[in-house]
Amino acid sequence: MLFGHLAVSALEHRYVRAAFVPVMAAAVFPDILDKTAHYALGLTDSGRMWAHTLLAALITSGVVLVLWGKRAATSWALGYLSHLVCDINNVVPWLYPLVTYEFPMSEGFRATLWASLTDTPRMLLETSLSVWALVAHRADLRSLTLKFAPAISGRRLRPCRDRPGTHTPSRRQQTHTLD
Ligand SMILES: [Zn+2]
Repeated sequence: MLFGHLAVSALEHRYVRAAFVPVMAAAVFPDILDKTAHYALGLTDSGRMWAHTLLAALITSGVVLVLWGKRAATSWALGYLSHLVCDINNVVPWLYPLVTYEFPMSEGFRATLWASLTDTPRMLLETSLSVWALVAHRADLRSLTLKFAPAISGRRLRPCRDRPGTHTPSRRQQTHTLD
């Protein structure tokens, strides 16, 4: 999955009340680590290695527990395990290094990315999950937009009463009302 991992974690935040930052961070952590080690640094044979194991999920959850507490660690573990489950379309080295895994030949980052983007069923699934996550979070997105829109546009919103003629009735209208 590409953006589908983030969508799954966003849904877990919405429906099982997972803490937002750890569950979203855990959604991308295994790929950031393993893809960088494989594609950018050439350290491993596959883009799914150490960070795609149960051992890594356990160790990193322990670190999160020590640093940020139980709720953050539970949310991290949930996001992490969801990532591994969502990756089952291909080899996931769950028990590495206890078990040896055979990975398909790596075709390089661009070819792998292109193969993912042109996999129609996969893209449909990821898009559907993302739309579901956006709909589930529409209230949060609306309040975020209202909060940051003035800062982004560089305009400050003023209360209605500061704008002549928009809120306070004019003198003429007041006179007419009194009649
Ligand atoms: Zn992955």
